[in-house]
Amino acid sequence: MGNQKKRMAVNSNSCVGCVTCMLRCSYRFSGTYSPALAALTVAGPGPLTGGFTISFLDKCDGCGICAAFCLYGAITAAEKGGAGL
Ligand code: SF4
Ligand code: SF4
Repeated sequence: MGNQKKRMAVNSNSCVGCVTCMLRCSYRFSGTYSPALAALTVAGPGPLTGGFTISFLDKCDGCGICAAFCLYGAITAAEKGGAGL
């Protein structure tokens, strides 16, 4: 509670499981597109099926990159993030 990941707001009903958010987040942290290195997870039954759960790990600092690259509006910045997005 109270850390910066709370800057991110989720509308999981809009998520299609494309994992673009995880790829972009991992690139920020590692310079590679490695979903396992992302600061968020998208879990669900499979691609393009709906019913996904989006969770943020402790290392998420609310930079807003995932929200900026989500084409479906499933993640938004609840407050201004550290990167000014
Ligand atoms: S939150 Fe957005 S970018 Fe991430 S998997 Fe869902 S639809 Fe794709
Ligand atoms: S806000 Fe930034 S650090 Fe947090 S999950 Fe999104 S891209 Fe990763």
